[in-house]
Amino acid sequence: MSDTPEPTRDFIRDIVASDLEAGHTEQVVTRFPPEPNGYLHIGHAKSICLNFGIATEFKGRCHLRFDDTNPVKEEQEFIDSIQHDVHWLGFDWGEHLNYASDYFEQLYEWAEHLIRTGKAYIDDTAPDAMRAQRGTLTEPGQNSPDRYRSIEENLDLFRRMRAGEFPNGARVLRAKIDMTSGNMNLRDPVLYRILHATHPRTGDKWCIYPTYDFAHGQSDAIEHVTHSICTLEFEDHRPLYDWLIENLPVPSRPRQYEFARLNISYTVLSKRILTRLVSEKHVSGWDDPRMPTLAGIRRRGVPAAAIREFVRRIGVARAYSTVDVAQLDAAIREVLNPSAPRRMAVLRPLKLIIENYPAGQTETLQAINHPDDPSAGTRPITFGREIYIEQDDFMEDPPKKFFRLAPGREVRLRYGFFVTCNEIVRGPSGEIVALRCTYDPATKGGNAPDGRKVQATLHWVAAADAVAAEVRLYEQLFNRPDPGADGDVMADLNPSSMEVLRNCLLEPALASAPEGEAVQFERLGYFCRDRDCTPTRPVFIRTVGLRDTAKAQIEGNAQLRANADVLKRSARKAETRPG
Ligand code: ATP
Ligand code: MG
Repeated sequence: MSDTPEPTRDFIRDIVASDLEAGHTEQVVTRFPPEPNGYLHIGHAKSICLNFGIATEFKGRCHLRFDDTNPVKEEQEFIDSIQHDVHWLGFDWGEHLNYASDYFEQLYEWAEHLIRTGKAYIDDTAPDAMRAQRGTLTEPGQNSPDRYRSIEENLDLFRRMRAGEFPNGARVLRAKIDMTSGNMNLRDPVLYRILHATHPRTGDKWCIYPTYDFAHGQSDAIEHVTHSICTLEFEDHRPLYDWLIENLPVPSRPRQYEFARLNISYTVLSKRILTRLVSEKHVSGWDDPRMPTLAGIRRRGVPAAAIREFVRRIGVARAYSTVDVAQLDAAIREVLNPSAPRRMAVLRPLKLIIENYPAGQTETLQAINHPDDPSAGTRPITFGREIYIEQDDFMEDPPKKFFRLAPGREVRLRYGFFVTCNEIVRGPSGEIVALRCTYDPATKGGNAPDGRKVQATLHWVAAADAVAAEVRLYEQLFNRPDPGADGDVMADLNPSSMEVLRNCLLEPALASAPEGEAVQFERLGYFCRDRDCTPTRPVFIRTVGLRDTAKAQIEGNAQLRANADVLKRSARKAETRPG
């Protein structure tokens, strides 16, 4: 991709490079293997960028393969959204769109092969008893009585399982490996289970389905995947992956490599919990802008390039760690800053009446679209007797370090004039409803001919043509860096993760801003028009603020410091967790 900087080297790229150099690999083939049981999240983006990135950099290919072996949880909606998201991230699988379910017949034949070679058997042990027989990390397991069944009986039972003679859970096919193995995954793992369920692709053709372990490596082998890259949870499965490849007449010998999954502070990247957030309606859907899904992040106005940049910066390693969510925001800002057009909007308006400006008259000023890019040009904006500034930009009784508007003080209006506040207009209960001001016509363009200076420049919109809008400000969905660490993750939901401002005013150009494309509201942050707009009322959502406010506050904020400690501790704990 032309807009993506060179990826940094990592241990997986080093392995691929040396395999190519040594001639172990002719052409590198990778795959991204999502289970279509939810939307993709930013953790998946790390895996996508790694797998597709390696294929691009080493002139190989990357397949998109749906790991659709559990029809109970899988849906077409997820299959569609996953394809959309991978394309959006900027990657293409070409003609290599595959489904584990395409291989069901072949996988079934290989299962029979294992039975025929005495390496798999049908087990009727009830699930609870089977669990007890498995042993523990410190105690060996026990052989199932069914382990000694004849090959003929196993074949017969397996065929009858396929034919639908038995109910769910009645029996399973297990590999015959070693019930005393120190690796639990080698204690006769289940390869096939009975599941009378309609599959999104194979319909009712099958009522037995391969497990992940049986489907995954063999699917890799069928596709001639050379480097099967997955997250560290699967490290303990690698001996089984290799055992199956060695004991089956597969057409190629893929190798599995593991890396540490992405964790982000204040963020949950478990599909199980994301599914709960949606089904229990804690969020408006999979694409709620607070969700860490690619759909949610995209809706927030984050460009794909920012996700790729974030993933590039965090790198790929085997050590567990938690990435500060501020790093994601920083990548978003850095990608948006050079490209996002500048506009003016006032979120909490305070009216200024410019008393020496003729009523009923307006004039046009030129506002620049991007301060660093003259080719972005300018746009006309309206100035008149009544304008709005941000309530925050005025203080009746300002402390020492407040340099913005106050009674008797002069400030600059962006792209316009100097104004001075002369008088506060109050409502019935004493609240401030407007400010009476005067402007200096000689300061058009923002400078005083006599060289006098002002300490602040404020953004504003004109009453004459401002457009009313709703603006939604999002904060983290969870209010602690390690959601769920003390129990139910839902207890850590941030009750104020969304603030809706209903009386915002926008300069008119914003009403037709393209949906989902971030613009910078000057001095406020990056925002994008949301699809929740009505024909008469735009809705904008905040993509990210201009600065890292958490960082800005960190010195004075003990809570944030405590949070940072928790982060460090949980990262340390994760590092020492046995792999
Ligand atoms: P589940 O929680 O349902 O097991 P999953 O997040 O592992 O789901 P998959 O659809 O199996 O979902 O993931 C597809 C690929 O994305 C896998 O190879 C997985 O290793 C990788 N992946 C998932 N989560 C992360 C993460 N947080 N960081 C990096 N890679 C991830
Ligand atoms: Mg998984």
